[in-house]
Amino acid sequence: MEFLVAGVLFVLGAILGSFINVLISRSVEGEDWVRGRSRCDHCRQQIKWYDNLPLLSYMVLGGKCRSCQGKIAIQHPIIELLTGLMLVWWYAIGFTFFRLVETPLLYIQPVFWLAVGILLLIIFVTDWLYQIIPDFANITLGVLAVVYRLYLSLSGVMRWQDFWLALLTGVVMGGLLYLIWVLTRGRGMGLGDVKFALVMGVLLGWPRAAIALFLAFLLGAVVGIILLLLKWKKPRERIAFGPFLILGTALALVWGFEMWSWYWGWLG
Ligand SMILES: [Zn+2]
Repeated sequence: MEFLVAGVLFVLGAILGSFINVLISRSVEGEDWVRGRSRCDHCRQQIKWYDNLPLLSYMVLGGKCRSCQGKIAIQHPIIELLTGLMLVWWYAIGFTFFRLVETPLLYIQPVFWLAVGILLLIIFVTDWLYQIIPDFANITLGVLAVVYRLYLSLSGVMRWQDFWLALLTGVVMGGLLYLIWVLTRGRGMGLGDVKFALVMGVLLGWPRAAIALFLAFLLGAVVGIILLLLKWKKPRERIAFGPFLILGTALALVWGFEMWSWYWGWLG
């Protein structure tokens, strides 16, 4: 039974992923999200529904457009696969992690974190492939984080001082990255990263946001050096910073408090 549910969730996730692909493509190209059918990037031919099935069509077509044989962007199957896996993972941890709280948080908490996961995935892939962090993703994530924390404070699950501390953390994180953006004249990162850091601060709060930022710089430096050594990137070539911010955020979400106490325990 549980495998059946996991299978259905994977398919639903892949379908959701193909909708996310449309969102990403159209926000990158500045087109209308809702209107118009999907078209091939190369020949602008409308894609038939049976060539637009998540994951399956990519495999059947061998990653090429049926009419012009142009390559279908790898973004499509990657996002569909990742959203599918994310829903399965979310279901699997739901049994141990989310069941600990009482109603109505029992329902609100898992839905909130699923939405956060999907938005983080969108930002990760868009910044990695197009070096853009879509404003719609940043704004939605920011509003969700504030509303969720507000709800936790109003219902007494979280202290009000933690709510204000989270907002302050966002301002400090955003301010810090803005400062770096100004000092490096935008070579180190984009304004999208600055806006995301603000949202990340509110989402994670203190001290997890600080850990996420530290991990992002550390991972970015390590991966940057590896890419240079392997000659996959030239010294002046820009590497998107957003994906590292997301990786730091994910790691800090899961292990943030452990890392924080380990760090201070190690110092003292
Ligand atoms: Zn085509």
